[in-house]
Amino acid sequence: MNQPLPSSLDTLQTYWFAICQKMEKDIGEAAFKSWLKPLEVLDIQDGSVVISAPSHFMCDWVQTHYSDRIKAYWAEIFPNVTQIKILVNLPTATIKPFPNTSAVSQPDEEIEEDDNADVNAALDSRFTFENFVVGKPNELAYAAALRVAESDHPLFNPLFLYGGVGLGKTHLMHAIAWQIKKMHPQRKVIYMSAEKFMYQFIRALRFKDTVAFKERFRSVDVLMIDDVQFIGGKETTQEEFFHTFNALVDNNRQVIISADKSPADLLQMEERLKSRLGWGLVADIHPTTYELRLGILQAKAAAISTKIPKEVMEFLALKISSNIRELEGALNRIVAHATLVGRNVTLDTTQEVLRDLLRSNDRRITIEDVQKKVCEFYNIKMSDLLSGRRQQTITRPRQVAMYFSKTLTTKSLPEIGRKFGGKDHTTVLHAIKKVQENCTQDPEFSADIDILRRLLES
Ligand code: ADP
Ligand code: MG
Repeated sequence: MNQPLPSSLDTLQTYWFAICQKMEKDIGEAAFKSWLKPLEVLDIQDGSVVISAPSHFMCDWVQTHYSDRIKAYWAEIFPNVTQIKILVNLPTATIKPFPNTSAVSQPDEEIEEDDNADVNAALDSRFTFENFVVGKPNELAYAAALRVAESDHPLFNPLFLYGGVGLGKTHLMHAIAWQIKKMHPQRKVIYMSAEKFMYQFIRALRFKDTVAFKERFRSVDVLMIDDVQFIGGKETTQEEFFHTFNALVDNNRQVIISADKSPADLLQMEERLKSRLGWGLVADIHPTTYELRLGILQAKAAAISTKIPKEVMEFLALKISSNIRELEGALNRIVAHATLVGRNVTLDTTQEVLRDLLRSNDRRITIEDVQKKVCEFYNIKMSDLLSGRRQQTITRPRQVAMYFSKTLTTKSLPEIGRKFGGKDHTTVLHAIKKVQENCTQDPEFSADIDILRRLLES
């Protein structure tokens, strides 16, 4: 089926997003995060898709490892795509408008939205204030959310909630929506992910329906946009969001935003938008504490009326510290297992059932992991890394490996020196200083260090 060509960069980014989702399925989350997530699509011209990468290394790596697959996915959408061009950090100002010439096939289905879909249909009935366990890490966010939900005029505008994944941002936003429905049923509330906001906006653009789009958003009493970091780098969407935002705030309507970072730290977000987002109340949700995790487990177990031994709860709260989503998942798994096999939950069955999960929460990076990854990254031999050779192509990676051995493991300088073919601890110390120094002087080197850190931590 033929479709008119998309006419904006945002549209191109929507296709790219759909491709990225497929790529992530293909290559796994860790590789995806390290190599594809940092890329940006810039343009499509004469059968070439132009993509930018933040460093030369990344550019080469993606070119050799992933460009064929990326090309194939683009070609599914635009059959005339024959080439993927990867550039290093091309400034976004040079982006040209999308050419409006040939025909294309139907894009990924998820871009299509049902216009009449109830925006609130997405609310999860379990995500209420009653079901939210309050502890030190989330008390400010909780209090602010409750105040906003109960007030009939904006108290702080916007309310900006931020924190890492699985810490309860979406839960709090849904809770606000439920509470408003209960207390002020006449108020019009829209809750939406930033991603969906973008899809709908793009759709409105494509069908020349932007007036209705604007009308719909600007007539609400409360607008909640979840995961706003998603529109980082998506300039047209940001622009529209900024106007919607201002129109609502100027009309004394409440806006509530969530993100994974504070307004100032949001990446690729326009300055004026960042500053505007920080004008109201910014409330962060901190990583969980043991007490909070235990409290949440007790509440969840009570909610499903399942008796779980105290030592199992404590064990879970201690071991699964990454986020609340994983903690819930773990609890559900052991309960499901116990029900299926008709046995009580014990510490033994818990350890058995959660073996894989516990291992990944337990994972520690070793010096050997660091050495292996650094060799792969710089494409050098392990024997060279551990040798005394003084060529720059070897000494740089060696210094980097020593640096990460110190910063990502708990090993001492002499222990690290020994693992690098018996070097002195002063050599390790020098290496660490050198890497820190290079990071401040050489942006490309610094970008490589970032990539490596992500690779090692993923
Ligand atoms: P985020 O949006 O920050 O990634 P979610 O709001 O989706 O995280 O939370 C992940 C899961 O953890 C959800 O099932 C949510 O109900 C649960 N959860 C998070 N915080 C709490 C809390 N304080 N009390 C109870 N459940 C919580
Ligand atoms: Mg969320």
